[in-house]
Amino acid sequence: MKELQATLVRPDLIRAHNLINGKWQPAASGKQFAISDPATGKVIAQVPDSGPDDARAAADAAAAAFPAWKQALPRERSDILRKWHAAILANGEDLARLISLEQGKPVGEGRGEVAYGASYVLWFAEEAARIYGDVIPQQQRGKRMTALKEPVGVVAAITPWNFPLAMIARKIAPALAAGCTVVAKPAEDTPLTALALALLAQEAGVPPGVINLVTTSREQAPGAVGDWLADERVRKISFTGSTPVGKYLARESANTLKKLSMELGGNAPFIVFDDADLDAAVSGLLTSKFRNAGQTCVCPNRVYVQSGVYERFAELLSKRVAALEVAPATDESAQIGPLINDRAVDKVARHVDDAVTHGARLLTGGKRLPALGPNFFEPTVLADATADMLLFREETFGPVVPLFRFYDEAEGVRAANDTAFGLATYFYSQDVRRIDRVSRQLEAGIVGINEGAISSAAAPFGGVKESGYGREGSRYGLDDYTIVKYLCQGGLQ
Ligand code: ADP
Repeated sequence: MKELQATLVRPDLIRAHNLINGKWQPAASGKQFAISDPATGKVIAQVPDSGPDDARAAADAAAAAFPAWKQALPRERSDILRKWHAAILANGEDLARLISLEQGKPVGEGRGEVAYGASYVLWFAEEAARIYGDVIPQQQRGKRMTALKEPVGVVAAITPWNFPLAMIARKIAPALAAGCTVVAKPAEDTPLTALALALLAQEAGVPPGVINLVTTSREQAPGAVGDWLADERVRKISFTGSTPVGKYLARESANTLKKLSMELGGNAPFIVFDDADLDAAVSGLLTSKFRNAGQTCVCPNRVYVQSGVYERFAELLSKRVAALEVAPATDESAQIGPLINDRAVDKVARHVDDAVTHGARLLTGGKRLPALGPNFFEPTVLADATADMLLFREETFGPVVPLFRFYDEAEGVRAANDTAFGLATYFYSQDVRRIDRVSRQLEAGIVGINEGAISSAAAPFGGVKESGYGREGSRYGLDDYTIVKYLCQGGLQ
């Protein structure tokens, strides 16, 4: 822990406690669990291994803080969010370092994540003052009907490890903007960034109880979160993570009928048509695929290339992929860091072996890199991928590009849609009519057209099918944290 603190300008950003009702405290049981650096496997900190008692205390605090926070003027909430945004940026270098240390993404990407996460806080600081309702045109004399937007109540935010800052910021910021209070549980691999973020929120003036954060190990998570699922005061769950866990949370919260936002897995297709600008398509694929070493839910998982440009595209892509610099995240030159843990590397290796066994051609990469550390894997391109391979059905979540071949537009679209998931899709074409047709046919919440970088605080992020429901960011993002209340006033004549 001392070693970790020494790497930061503000060592006090490392919090080894839960934040409940404005107080930093250990788990009621006193238990802790270890956080390690994925590049080396070395333990870097210990944080509370919270259980149901801690979760209950957090929900008590959030429920108690709700009435006053709901009553605060939107502009007051907005001002606090602005201060939080400024504090995130002012401590950006420390936060980027922390993200890289606990999550493994290159420090340059860590800086990108700080800016990206902060942009949601600013966006919702601005939206806080613009949550309009409607005055409904009069239907009967003497009666006035109005629709108001009110905060849904206490929100439970449960986040994954791949964006330790951005995922939690983009849940807490809209919740606070709408007037909700929050109980949050960050992923067990990466709680340090979330704790630092909560400290900065506290310093920015977020009142006690408005943000409560508890950390748990994987083993304790069902117990701690289970308390929130059963708690009728918790009115909403905002979850980002895997589809099986999302379904479990939806089932287990059914008894208290909570409002749900589910940002779940993807199995994103990336289609390159014969008429694409190939250089742009290769660059777009590198941007979208290799961010965070392929560990994002919008990373293309299946790349479909039309037969006329297949070999040329494979060659151009392999050259660029082979040149990517793999190194520990803290190394300034790194473009690909370690994967999050040994389970992640095992899955990637299994997908590559299975593909090769089923006839895929390895164009570049394909191996672990033990000389760099336990969790490194070479950026990999596989040609001749087919639908019988594991990487067709499952999200690989690593630096592997499988190239599938298709012959005509209808077949390409059908193959892209042939999945239970529907988060992001991408396609490259220079034909305006095709662009219009294909964008309407793709079954997904997000379509990147001649573009690999799709995320923005101003845009609605979310999926369809088993990728979930709800939207984060944009003006739609507030709907998930509000309810519509209808007022009908009579006797006005
Ligand atoms: P990933 O595969 O990316 O780790 P998960 O869906 O497993 O995604 O985890 C996302 C978040 O959900 C993490 O914060 C994790 O601790 C939490 N989580 C996982 N299983 C459960 C569970 N049974 N109950 C509550 N939270 C869970």
